[in-house]
Amino acid sequence: MRDNNNNNKKNVVVRQRHCSFCVNKKIEIDYKDSTFLRRFTSSFAKIVPRHRSGVCAKHQRELATAIKRARVMALLPFIQR
Ligand SMILES: [Zn+2]
Repeated sequence: MRDNNNNNKKNVVVRQRHCSFCVNKKIEIDYKDSTFLRRFTSSFAKIVPRHRSGVCAKHQRELATAIKRARVMALLPFIQR
């Protein structure tokens, strides 16, 4: 099991080519839109990592700050019990 470079395709989820924010320029990342931001948080209210949501680095950064802002404004939970 030395050459695991070729056989690790099983774990890789089929990822989107383009980030949904880059494709659809109309979508704005707004910290007040909690229902929209909730889609980018896990069931434990954690921010979904980039490789799972398929968002590009630039938009993931904006998303993360928006989610963090929404948490401070009590629109999103910090933890899910
Ligand atoms: Zn993007």
